[in-house]
Amino acid sequence: MDATCIFCRIAAGEIPAKTVYRSDAVVAIEDLNPQAPVHLLVLPVAHFAGVSELSQTPGTEPVAAELLAVASQLGRERGEGRGFRIAINTGEHGGQTVGHLHLHVLAGRALGWPPG
Ligand code: AMP
Ligand code: ZN
Repeated sequence: MDATCIFCRIAAGEIPAKTVYRSDAVVAIEDLNPQAPVHLLVLPVAHFAGVSELSQTPGTEPVAAELLAVASQLGRERGEGRGFRIAINTGEHGGQTVGHLHLHVLAGRALGWPPG
């Protein structure tokens, strides 16, 4: 755990968040600043700076699979059959502002494409 990382601290329960899913490896919370009627964040409990750091670390395939499974299940449930979007912002041009891997799950309205 990185004590300076806000999502590590949320995963450890040190900073409160509205948690909608928790296992040993994955936590899902409501985004503090929602961009859609449904806006959840699905994150690994272990610290990975981004998706590349996870995918380049041997043995993390089960965590990657759980992140995707949880995000898609929440999107299916909360999207009420009308669809959803999973996004992983990565780096400066990708719009990443928190340096701990997280999957956005957005639903509840028609989402524009392409993103700005
Ligand atoms: P990104 O810009 O892709 O790195 O996304 C970071 C997301 O984290 C943004 O949507 C923020 O609103 C959200 N966020 C930041 N701090 C918190 C927090 N303490 N609890 C919940 N969501 C947060
Ligand atoms: Zn972290």
